[in-house]
Amino acid sequence: VTDCILLLSGGIDSTVVLADLKRRKRRPLCLIFDYGQSLQGEIQYAVANARRYDVPHRVVDLPLGWTAPGCALLNDGAAGLAKGRSLNEIAAAGAPPSYVPFRNGVFLALAVAAGEGHGIADIYCGGNGLASGNYPDDTAEFAAAFEAAAEVGTQPAYAPRINFPLATMSKADVVRRAWFLGVELDHTWSCYHDGRHLPMARPCGTCDSCVQREAAIAQARLTPNGASQ
Ligand SMILES: [Zn+2]
Repeated sequence: VTDCILLLSGGIDSTVVLADLKRRKRRPLCLIFDYGQSLQGEIQYAVANARRYDVPHRVVDLPLGWTAPGCALLNDGAAGLAKGRSLNEIAAAGAPPSYVPFRNGVFLALAVAAGEGHGIADIYCGGNGLASGNYPDDTAEFAAAFEAAAEVGTQPAYAPRINFPLATMSKADVVRRAWFLGVELDHTWSCYHDGRHLPMARPCGTCDSCVQREAAIAQARLTPNGASQ
Protein backbone atom coordinates (compact mmCIF):
# COMPACT_ATOMS: atom_id res chain seq x y z
CA VAL A 1 0.00 0.00 0.00
CA THR A 2 1.20 3.52 -0.81
CA ASP A 3 2.85 5.13 2.21
CA CYS A 4 4.45 8.28 0.81
CA ILE A 5 4.35 10.70 -2.10
CA LEU A 6 7.41 11.55 -4.23
CA LEU A 7 7.79 14.42 -6.67
CA LEU A 8 9.54 12.57 -9.50
CA SER A 9 11.31 14.19 -12.45
CA GLY A 10 13.59 12.57 -14.97
CA GLY A 11 16.73 13.87 -13.27
CA ILE A 12 19.27 12.25 -11.00
CA ASP A 13 18.10 13.77 -7.70
CA SER A 14 14.53 12.52 -7.44
CA THR A 15 15.52 9.20 -9.05
CA VAL A 16 18.04 8.69 -6.24
CA VAL A 17 15.31 9.45 -3.70
CA LEU A 18 13.05 6.91 -5.43
CA ALA A 19 15.75 4.22 -5.33
CA ASP A 20 16.45 4.95 -1.68
CA LEU A 21 12.76 4.76 -0.75
CA LYS A 22 12.55 1.37 -2.46
CA ARG A 23 15.69 0.20 -0.65
CA ARG A 24 13.94 1.09 2.61
CA LYS A 25 10.82 -0.85 1.56
CA ARG A 26 8.72 2.29 1.22
CA ARG A 27 5.88 2.47 -1.30
CA PRO A 28 5.80 5.89 -2.95
CA LEU A 29 3.16 7.31 -5.24
CA CYS A 30 5.16 9.27 -7.81
CA LEU A 31 3.79 12.58 -9.02
CA ILE A 32 5.31 13.47 -12.41
CA PHE A 33 4.59 16.97 -13.65
CA ASP A 34 4.10 17.98 -17.27
CA TYR A 35 4.34 21.72 -16.70
CA GLY A 36 5.29 22.73 -20.22
CA GLN A 37 9.04 22.29 -19.67
CA SER A 38 11.43 22.41 -22.61
CA LEU A 39 12.81 19.05 -21.52
CA GLN A 40 9.64 17.13 -22.32
CA GLY A 41 11.70 13.97 -22.68
CA GLU A 42 12.33 13.86 -18.94
CA ILE A 43 8.68 12.94 -18.44
CA GLN A 44 9.25 9.70 -20.35
CA TYR A 45 12.32 9.01 -18.24
CA ALA A 46 10.37 9.60 -15.04
CA VAL A 47 7.54 7.31 -16.12
CA ALA A 48 10.06 4.64 -17.14
CA ASN A 49 11.77 4.90 -13.73
CA ALA A 50 8.49 4.60 -11.84
CA ARG A 51 7.80 1.43 -13.81
CA ARG A 52 11.36 0.20 -13.34
CA TYR A 53 10.95 0.48 -9.58
CA ASP A 54 7.44 -0.92 -9.74
CA VAL A 55 5.69 1.96 -8.01
CA PRO A 56 2.50 3.74 -9.03
CA HIS A 57 2.73 7.11 -10.76
CA ARG A 58 0.47 9.86 -11.96
CA VAL A 59 1.41 12.35 -14.67
CA VAL A 60 -0.07 15.69 -13.66
CA ASP A 61 -0.78 18.09 -16.51
CA LEU A 62 -0.13 21.54 -15.09
CA PRO A 63 0.98 24.06 -17.71
CA LEU A 64 2.94 26.83 -16.00
CA GLY A 65 3.97 28.84 -19.05
CA TRP A 66 1.48 31.61 -18.34
CA THR A 67 2.94 32.16 -14.87
CA ALA A 68 6.39 33.07 -16.17
CA PRO A 69 6.53 34.48 -19.70
CA GLY A 70 10.25 35.22 -19.29
CA CYS A 71 11.28 31.70 -18.26
CA ALA A 72 13.45 29.99 -20.85
CA LEU A 73 12.42 26.53 -19.68
CA LEU A 74 8.79 27.28 -20.57
CA ASN A 75 6.93 28.57 -23.62
CA ASP A 76 9.31 26.89 -26.09
CA GLY A 77 11.93 29.37 -24.99
CA ALA A 78 14.84 26.95 -24.91
CA ALA A 79 16.78 29.22 -27.25
CA GLY A 80 17.06 31.67 -24.35
CA LEU A 81 18.83 29.21 -22.08
CA ALA A 82 22.32 30.06 -20.88
CA LYS A 83 25.07 28.15 -22.64
CA GLY A 84 28.61 27.23 -21.78
CA ARG A 85 28.73 28.87 -18.35
CA SER A 86 31.20 27.61 -15.78
CA LEU A 87 30.04 26.42 -12.36
CA ASN A 88 31.27 29.68 -10.83
CA GLU A 89 29.48 31.77 -13.42
CA ILE A 90 26.24 29.86 -12.81
CA ALA A 91 26.56 30.32 -9.04
CA ALA A 92 27.34 34.03 -9.28
CA ALA A 93 24.66 34.97 -11.80
CA GLY A 94 21.60 34.72 -9.56
CA ALA A 95 18.32 33.39 -10.90
CA PRO A 96 19.10 31.58 -14.17
CA PRO A 97 16.93 31.89 -17.33
CA SER A 98 15.70 28.36 -16.54
CA TYR A 99 14.30 29.35 -13.14
CA VAL A 100 10.61 28.41 -12.91
CA PRO A 101 9.09 30.61 -10.21
CA PHE A 102 8.16 28.69 -7.06
CA ARG A 103 8.02 25.39 -8.96
CA ASN A 104 8.52 23.14 -5.95
CA GLY A 105 6.06 25.26 -3.98
CA VAL A 106 3.38 24.66 -6.60
CA PHE A 107 4.13 20.94 -6.82
CA LEU A 108 4.30 20.50 -3.06
CA ALA A 109 0.94 22.23 -2.62
CA LEU A 110 -0.64 19.54 -4.83
CA ALA A 111 1.29 16.82 -3.01
CA VAL A 112 0.02 18.05 0.35
CA ALA A 113 -3.55 18.17 -0.99
CA ALA A 114 -3.22 14.59 -2.25
CA GLY A 115 -1.49 13.57 0.96
CA GLU A 116 -4.27 14.92 3.11
CA GLY A 117 -6.91 13.45 0.80
CA HIS A 118 -5.32 10.00 0.85
CA GLY A 119 -4.08 10.07 4.43
CA ILE A 120 -0.39 10.00 3.44
CA ALA A 121 1.85 12.09 5.70
CA ASP A 122 5.30 11.66 4.15
CA ILE A 123 6.09 13.75 1.08
CA TYR A 124 9.49 13.51 -0.61
CA CYS A 125 11.24 15.89 -3.00
CA GLY A 126 14.69 15.60 -4.58
CA GLY A 127 15.42 19.30 -4.02
CA ASN A 128 19.18 19.70 -3.87
CA GLY A 129 19.58 23.24 -2.64
CA LEU A 130 23.28 23.15 -1.96
CA ALA A 131 24.10 22.31 -5.57
CA SER A 132 21.48 24.59 -7.09
CA GLY A 133 21.85 27.61 -4.84
CA ASN A 134 19.83 29.88 -7.08
CA TYR A 135 16.64 27.86 -6.61
CA PRO A 136 15.34 28.94 -3.18
CA ASP A 137 12.56 26.33 -3.22
CA ASP A 138 15.14 23.53 -3.37
CA THR A 139 16.48 24.17 0.13
CA ALA A 140 16.08 22.57 3.56
CA GLU A 141 14.97 25.95 4.90
CA PHE A 142 12.14 26.04 2.38
CA ALA A 143 11.14 22.44 3.13
CA ALA A 144 10.81 23.23 6.85
CA ALA A 145 8.83 26.42 6.20
CA PHE A 146 6.51 24.66 3.75
CA GLU A 147 5.94 21.86 6.24
CA ALA A 148 4.94 24.41 8.87
CA ALA A 149 2.51 26.09 6.45
CA ALA A 150 1.04 22.71 5.43
CA GLU A 151 0.61 21.77 9.07
CA VAL A 152 -1.33 24.95 9.79
CA GLY A 153 -3.31 24.80 6.55
CA THR A 154 -4.65 21.25 6.83
CA GLN A 155 -6.96 19.44 9.25
CA PRO A 156 -5.57 18.88 12.76
CA ALA A 157 -5.56 15.10 12.29
CA TYR A 158 -3.20 15.42 9.31
CA ALA A 159 0.48 15.96 10.11
CA PRO A 160 2.42 16.36 6.86
CA ARG A 161 6.17 15.76 6.75
CA ILE A 162 8.04 17.43 3.90
CA ASN A 163 11.29 15.54 3.27
CA PHE A 164 14.16 16.89 1.14
CA PRO A 165 16.77 14.20 1.88
CA LEU A 166 19.31 15.60 -0.60
CA ALA A 167 18.95 19.26 0.32
CA THR A 168 22.37 19.65 1.92
CA MET A 169 24.33 17.13 -0.16
CA SER A 170 26.80 18.14 -2.85
CA LYS A 171 25.87 17.07 -6.37
CA ALA A 172 28.91 14.77 -6.39
CA ASP A 173 27.54 13.10 -3.25
CA VAL A 174 24.23 12.60 -5.04
CA VAL A 175 26.07 10.91 -7.92
CA ARG A 176 27.91 8.66 -5.44
CA ARG A 177 24.58 7.86 -3.83
CA ALA A 178 23.20 6.95 -7.26
CA TRP A 179 26.10 4.55 -7.78
CA PHE A 180 25.60 3.03 -4.33
CA LEU A 181 21.91 2.47 -5.03
CA GLY A 182 22.53 1.04 -8.49
CA VAL A 183 20.82 3.90 -10.33
CA GLU A 184 21.96 3.94 -13.95
CA LEU A 185 22.67 7.56 -14.82
CA ASP A 186 21.74 6.75 -18.42
CA HIS A 187 18.23 6.17 -17.11
CA THR A 188 18.00 9.84 -16.11
CA TRP A 189 17.70 12.99 -18.23
CA SER A 190 18.83 16.41 -16.98
CA CYS A 191 19.49 18.40 -20.16
CA TYR A 192 17.22 21.41 -20.54
CA HIS A 193 16.92 20.71 -24.25
CA ASP A 194 14.20 18.61 -25.78
CA GLY A 195 14.99 14.92 -25.55
CA ARG A 196 11.32 14.48 -26.29
CA HIS A 197 11.57 11.65 -28.81
CA LEU A 198 12.83 8.23 -27.87
CA PRO A 199 15.44 7.07 -28.53
CA MET A 200 16.95 10.18 -27.05
CA ALA A 201 19.26 12.59 -28.72
CA ARG A 202 22.41 13.20 -26.70
CA PRO A 203 22.41 15.82 -23.94
CA CYS A 204 23.66 19.17 -25.28
CA GLY A 205 26.58 19.36 -22.85
CA THR A 206 26.45 23.16 -22.62
CA CYS A 207 23.28 24.12 -20.72
CA ASP A 208 23.63 24.85 -16.98
CA SER A 209 22.09 21.51 -16.08
CA CYS A 210 24.49 19.56 -18.31
CA VAL A 211 27.47 21.54 -16.94
CA GLN A 212 26.45 20.85 -13.32
CA ARG A 213 25.73 17.19 -14.00
CA GLU A 214 29.00 16.52 -15.85
CA ALA A 215 31.03 18.37 -13.20
CA ALA A 216 29.39 16.32 -10.45
CA ILE A 217 30.08 13.04 -12.24
CA ALA A 218 33.69 14.06 -12.85
CA GLN A 219 34.10 15.02 -9.18
CA ALA A 220 32.52 11.77 -8.02
CA ARG A 221 34.88 9.79 -10.27
CA LEU A 222 37.89 11.64 -8.83
CA THR A 223 36.85 10.85 -5.26
CA PRO A 224 34.55 7.82 -5.47
CA ASN A 225 34.46 7.39 -1.71
CA GLY A 226 33.67 11.01 -1.00
CA ALA A 227 37.13 11.97 0.27
CA SER A 228 38.77 15.38 -0.17
CA GLN A 229 35.94 17.32 -1.71
ZN1 LIG B 1 22.01 20.29 -21.79
